[in-house]
Amino acid sequence: MRIWDSHVHLKHGDAEGTEYPARDIVATMDAAGIERSVVFAMSTTTERSVEMALEAVRQFPDRLIPYVYALPHYGRSVLDEIESAIVDSGFRGIKIHAGECTLAEYVVDPVFELAGRHGVPCLIDCLGNAGAAERLARAFPGTIQIVAHMGRYLATDARLLERFIALAEAHQNVFLDLSGVVLLEQAQKAVRRLGSGRLVFGTDGPQRAPDTASYARLAIRKIDALDLADEQREDIFWGNIARLLCLA
Ligand SMILES: [Zn+2]
Repeated sequence: MRIWDSHVHLKHGDAEGTEYPARDIVATMDAAGIERSVVFAMSTTTERSVEMALEAVRQFPDRLIPYVYALPHYGRSVLDEIESAIVDSGFRGIKIHAGECTLAEYVVDPVFELAGRHGVPCLIDCLGNAGAAERLARAFPGTIQIVAHMGRYLATDARLLERFIALAEAHQNVFLDLSGVVLLEQAQKAVRRLGSGRLVFGTDGPQRAPDTASYARLAIRKIDALDLADEQREDIFWGNIARLLCLA
């Protein structure tokens, strides 16, 4: 079975801003049986996120797929940098993290508008802010919003995750990323209510827990443990993200 990982960090948002070189990411993918991965950096400028992803993809063009990190800059607009990454350098999506920028209209709306215009998805970690995700889904029906972690990283609040399932139910442009989901019964519920077409597999790796390959294998096993038909498994592990990125 093919596996594509829709959520991999060249640089994490942890306190240390942990970075992983492309060769370590690909070695992890090889060990876990992952064919391709979406990679991006955060906790850095948009400009640096482009440099890091370009360098990684230059080394492994057939394995890694770049996203640009959207971070507002007080000195200049980053919209031109994001657009250039997509148009000139083949970036396939945009990462947004509410931990490092506000999701207020005046910050995030121009990024969503740009993403819709260029047909690339926004992978957004909204830190559980269902209201903000809902506003964006409604305001930009032509922009694909991939909600990281089904709404909140390692959420233990089933009702919060249910709000995001309902959001995806109400808005065709909303997809849910299954990385960092610990309430697997909510992932199963999402399959029941949405079908498999709006869920994407991701690891949120690399993580040394205990080592990067074991961490990735565990993420795969968790989704594998869901009650899924073969074609549903294929959608979630590979087909949906490949179609979203026009790489199917
Ligand atoms: Zn992440």
